[in-house]
Amino acid sequence: MAKTYSNYIDGKWVKSESGKTFDNINPATGEMLCRFQASTQKDVLKAVTAAEKAFAPWKNTPAPKRGEILYKAARIMEERKEELAKMLTQENGKNMDESRGEIQEGIDITLYVAGEGRRLFGETTPSELSNKFCMTIREPVGIIGMITPWNFPFAIPAWKIPPALVAGNCIVFKPSSDAPWLGARLVEILEEAGLPPGVLNMVTGSGGVVGKEIANNPKIDGLSFTGSTSTGKDIYAAGAARLAGVGLEMGGKNPQIVLKDADLDLAVDGAIWGGFGTAGQRCTATSRLIIEKAVLDKFTQKFVQRVRNIKVGNGLDKGVLTGPIINGKQKDKILAYIKIGKEEGAKLLTGGNALEEGKYGKGNFIEPTVFTNVKKTMTIAQEEIFGPVVSIMPVSDFEEAIEVANSTEYGLSASIYTNDVTKAFRAMRMLESGIVYVNAPTIGAEAHMPFGGIKNTGNGKREAGSEAIKEFTELKSIFVDYSGGLQRAQIDIGKK
Ligand code: NAP
Repeated sequence: MAKTYSNYIDGKWVKSESGKTFDNINPATGEMLCRFQASTQKDVLKAVTAAEKAFAPWKNTPAPKRGEILYKAARIMEERKEELAKMLTQENGKNMDESRGEIQEGIDITLYVAGEGRRLFGETTPSELSNKFCMTIREPVGIIGMITPWNFPFAIPAWKIPPALVAGNCIVFKPSSDAPWLGARLVEILEEAGLPPGVLNMVTGSGGVVGKEIANNPKIDGLSFTGSTSTGKDIYAAGAARLAGVGLEMGGKNPQIVLKDADLDLAVDGAIWGGFGTAGQRCTATSRLIIEKAVLDKFTQKFVQRVRNIKVGNGLDKGVLTGPIINGKQKDKILAYIKIGKEEGAKLLTGGNALEEGKYGKGNFIEPTVFTNVKKTMTIAQEEIFGPVVSIMPVSDFEEAIEVANSTEYGLSASIYTNDVTKAFRAMRMLESGIVYVNAPTIGAEAHMPFGGIKNTGNGKREAGSEAIKEFTELKSIFVDYSGGLQRAQIDIGKK
């Protein structure tokens, strides 16, 4: 029988006071995998109370000890990698290679930030006065509310939770309602690794109820959100009303530029992987292929031929690149964008339909779809489709390629394929995005590199890498005067 997961509050697995649950559905088969609590505002309040109680002892736990719990959690993740990857494919649909990669991403970031337990560096610096000592230390923000999406149900919670924990924060976490399973498994692992009660709390349920309460609760000191730009803006406004720090990672409309001197086979490999992996449901998915006209025909022919041969299906099946769309609503949204693309005059080269016959019947599948002659003002060139739909946009030269690449409201990831080192370096500067790839697709991240975007993708924060800790700490400046007398900064400087 399918398991019903409870909320995790104050170190206990407890049912929601609503008495209601919701189903977690496999998007490839329609099968119900397990159930989760459809929680209420009251459940969030209980989680906040637990986090408040746990905060002082957790903050005062030596950071290396907090780090040790994370090392242990990473070891458990490693032992369960295959099992977790299979669950991830079942709940999200991405293929097993990608799921294994996602679990590995969770392991990598957990190991990386566990080491912060022995760093959490501040600074020491000379004072302008004699016999005075200056330093900064990092302190936890307090209680962090975390709200995450369905497309990386393990890695995104793992990018947020371990850094916040090692820094000494307590957490109220709401995973996506479309994919809460892997988030719950992560919480179980951290519990098993020895996290004290109340430090990490998970409340499942809808964004409109649970998410909204987390965003607005005055006792939650900081918010960390990954999801769509429209939800992110609401959360930013809610945080701003009480001056809470808010970290936002939002949508993308990522371009891959291919110049005439590029290795075209390599560029096609990148476009296939970037455009159709995870069925295009990545924030960094390649959605616009900006191709110099001199190689347009050659590139298009090679690319479309490869797209027609993409295996679509259940991510558990061997050889599948493109899995299902997460739910029926998202599938309808993608099909509506395809219709708009045709109506606005883009030329459909392949795909464009839902797959509903035979083995596809119970899931949500769409053919890998390619448009060409896409103009920068068209809706499909501007809005995030979040599906297996790629637009080819012909351009005359490098300058136009950059201009088209920068012509959207988003700024997450951008890629350029060229063997011209001058153009590559100019592009690195000129592309309006938080991430630039040269001769590599728009997707992919490494735990020790900062991740995030500009424009409508982010609000100036970054996750992972050297930035991972910053979102979850406050800097405190400390001055110790051991002169034995009153020394006044600015006023006494230079006086004997
Ligand atoms: P979403 O609809 O914005 O949902 C994200 C999370 O917010 C979910 O947990 C959702 O809960 C919750 N939520 C919804 N409405 C809310 C509200 N009014 N108040 C508080 N919380 C609310 O996004 P999604 O469809 O899950 O994810 C896809 C989006 O995420 C895409 O735009 C993608 O580009 C973006 N993304 C960005 C990054 C990045 O790093 N930049 C990474 C991955 C994904 P429910 O699930 O219950 O609705």
